[in-house]
Amino acid sequence: MPAIESPEDHPRLPPPPRDVPAFSPSDVSVIFVLGGPGAGKGTQCANLVRDYGFRHLSAGDLLRAEQARPGSEFGELIKGYIKDGKIVPMEVTVALLENAMRDAIEKGNTKFLIDGTKPPHRPELPRGALFFFFVFRLKSVAGFPRQMDQATRFESDVCPSMFTLFFDCPEEVMLQRLLDRGKTSGRADDNLESIKKRFRTFVETSLPVVDYFEKEGKVVKIDATHSPDEVYRAVKDAFRDRFQQRIAQ
Ligand code: ADP
Ligand code: AMP
Repeated sequence: MPAIESPEDHPRLPPPPRDVPAFSPSDVSVIFVLGGPGAGKGTQCANLVRDYGFRHLSAGDLLRAEQARPGSEFGELIKGYIKDGKIVPMEVTVALLENAMRDAIEKGNTKFLIDGTKPPHRPELPRGALFFFFVFRLKSVAGFPRQMDQATRFESDVCPSMFTLFFDCPEEVMLQRLLDRGKTSGRADDNLESIKKRFRTFVETSLPVVDYFEKEGKVVKIDATHSPDEVYRAVKDAFRDRFQQRIAQ
């Protein structure tokens, strides 16, 4: 497949696959964040960015930016997939994520969240907290990987994940949230027809990824039905537990 350019500074992409990942998990901690559309991934990632200085990258946002970038040879292709709520070909998505991570690392940023919605701002971490110390080294990948080949490709080519944060939410709750969001989001896929397709895609292609990592003991499941504040409390508790486990190892 021909190389694509990143939306920011348009470097040419390296051709995958590789023998070793681009980034070592001893330098870089990767968290995959998954959940159905409307489960609240973007909302909670924004909280983590605001409070703990994660770098948040959205596979969906990177794809939308590439789709809108003048001259992109993949713009039309991406547009079609997004409109149908389908998974964009893995090479495109993984390459965009790696590019964005590399850019951030070159700028000295070592913390990432990757999800469907980019947070509005990214303040510095609070000083002194134990939690801060561990989150400081964290990179998180959210709304990704949406299917198994993305997971294995990302782990082999870019960086093995530390764990997967999974927002568990029933479809009827997600549907209502997305229809509400659609009133103001301006997103072409926040309508009933696209939402239903996105639910089906999630169940058929993304849930197996959660199952796979669950078998490896690498899933942190969060009940996403509560209020945003309550969900965030659960996220922080779960992160604290995971990072404490990491200290103990
Ligand atoms: P995702 O990134 O998983 O698609 P979002 O974070 O964009 O989901 O949330 C979808 C919509 O639901 C947004 O309008 C958001 O404000 C709202 N929302 C997010 N979390 C909650 C929650 N816990 N309770 C109620 N509404 C929520
Ligand atoms: P999101 O913004 O996460 O809701 O994603 C919107 C759309 O972008 C999806 O319905 C897919 O078409 C595409 N997309 C987002 N993330 C991925 C991904 N990891 N792999 C492939 N396509 C994606």
